[in-house]
Amino acid sequence: MVSDTARYWRRLDDQRIQCLLCSHACILVNGARGHCNARENRAGSMILPQYAWISSIAIDPVEKKPLRRFMPNTWTYSVGFWHCTMDCPFCQNWEIAHPVRIEKDVIVPERLIELALESGCPSISFTYSEPTLHIEYVIEAMQRAHSRGLKTILVTNGNILPDPARDILLHTDATNVDLKTSDPAIYRDLLGGEIKVVQKFIQIAAELCHVEVTSLAVPGVLDSSDHIEEIAKFLASISPDIPLHITRYHPAWKFSRPPLSPETVHGMGVAAKRHLKYVYAYS
Ligand code: SF4
Repeated sequence: MVSDTARYWRRLDDQRIQCLLCSHACILVNGARGHCNARENRAGSMILPQYAWISSIAIDPVEKKPLRRFMPNTWTYSVGFWHCTMDCPFCQNWEIAHPVRIEKDVIVPERLIELALESGCPSISFTYSEPTLHIEYVIEAMQRAHSRGLKTILVTNGNILPDPARDILLHTDATNVDLKTSDPAIYRDLLGGEIKVVQKFIQIAAELCHVEVTSLAVPGVLDSSDHIEEIAKFLASISPDIPLHITRYHPAWKFSRPPLSPETVHGMGVAAKRHLKYVYAYS
């Protein structure tokens, strides 16, 4: 049965509600949508105006998620939604994360899993935009995937509060989480997330499933060996076995600064390797 009932919210007074899904904890008056534009207060209840609206489907190597130590050399059926809980001005998928216009292409979870099985892929990935924003759909799809023998992958910014984090990670076999900078003020003021919330998500993920982390090397955000060492030390405090991917940003959306040099990204990889066993620096 399709379940489009919103979870993770509470009623306040005067038909106001509060969303309890991500770090924004939006308070919504009747008729308003949250910061993400994907969860709405209708007459004092939360609704999901874009439930099952799929933006993208592709078949990717699992290494593209990126995951390097989970089902290597396999393909994964990759699905994206619309919108995001964060506002990184260099978003590499801004066309679907911060869309000017969206298209209604509805695929219910049951049908999605049939399509994934027809593809022959051994796993399904929720990726491209921010899947946790569509947690009700993703959990149902993951349950259906498991019942049909598919592994489940979640590619996320991790900016989701602990209770929903546990709920979705209980159905996740592997996750790749963005850890975007070691600076709490940049996280909050420029990117629209909370570093403590993301760090907690990674801790919970390490208890419940396979976890790898991606840090995008962006000038002025994450651009030095000192920055990446702080991230590597945090991950090592959970487990030095957590793989870290350092990827090189390309100018996109509101950000036009030139990318860091390959040598800088390589140097960041060397610095992270002082603390972690598996570091992949892409330049
Ligand atoms: S998911 Fe986050 S941004 Fe969206 S309504 Fe809920 S608290 Fe606000």
